[in-house]
Amino acid sequence: MAAQPPEGLVNLLLYGAPGSGKGTQANVLRAYFRIPHIATGDMLRAEIAAGTELGLQAQPILAAGKYVSDEIMIGMIRNRLRQPDCDPGFIIDGFPRTVPQAAALDDLMRELGRAFDRVIYLKVPVEELLQRLSGRLVCPRCQRTYPPGTAACAIHGTPLVQREDDKPEAVRPRIEIYLEKTVPVLDHYRGEGLVSEIDGRGTIEEISRQVLAAANGKVKAQ
Ligand code: ADP
Repeated sequence: MAAQPPEGLVNLLLYGAPGSGKGTQANVLRAYFRIPHIATGDMLRAEIAAGTELGLQAQPILAAGKYVSDEIMIGMIRNRLRQPDCDPGFIIDGFPRTVPQAAALDDLMRELGRAFDRVIYLKVPVEELLQRLSGRLVCPRCQRTYPPGTAACAIHGTPLVQREDDKPEAVRPRIEIYLEKTVPVLDHYRGEGLVSEIDGRGTIEEISRQVLAAANGKVKAQ
């Protein structure tokens, strides 16, 4: 990782299937660029943990591996991107997941006078995604994920738990809805020449190196 953080605004979109490693790479990007990581899944889980009305509505949807409505998600991202901590830039992870969400995000970015510098696509074959998701464990404090059998979070020492939607009955529906509703979103950004496709298999360090290179604009768009 470069010692000097880059100057100026950077607006990044992390795209990939559930289990592709977006959260792990978002942590690397956040530390490097010092900009917020906006993860809609984490935001929803925080609402659920706080027992808000939205959380109560969202809980059974997440547990079943389905998608929360576009209307709710668009409202959530609208509010979040207007927060002042987003001024220097942001990394969005988990949004847009549908074509209408992508269209709404285009409008919002225009309103905010911003544009994405790069869409980073972490590509992992479906069989590997199914394997990774079933049995992975997560730190309830920082949401970092770990392979099955790990006892505690390497950062916090917190005992790990299984996410409700990583239970076998929810894993396949999550992949199916991703293939149906979210894969078409990539074409939306491909058309704009913004996508850097990175093989999401390999060591975390090797993938991070490529992700940072793409974010710094060193990888040609595909
Ligand atoms: P993953 O990418 O591993 O599925 P996330 O934490 O990004 O995990 O999302 C968890 C769940 O939150 C999704 O399965 C879905 O139910 C809900 N969710 C998150 N973002 C969105 C979105 N943009 N639109 C609809 N539902 C969403």
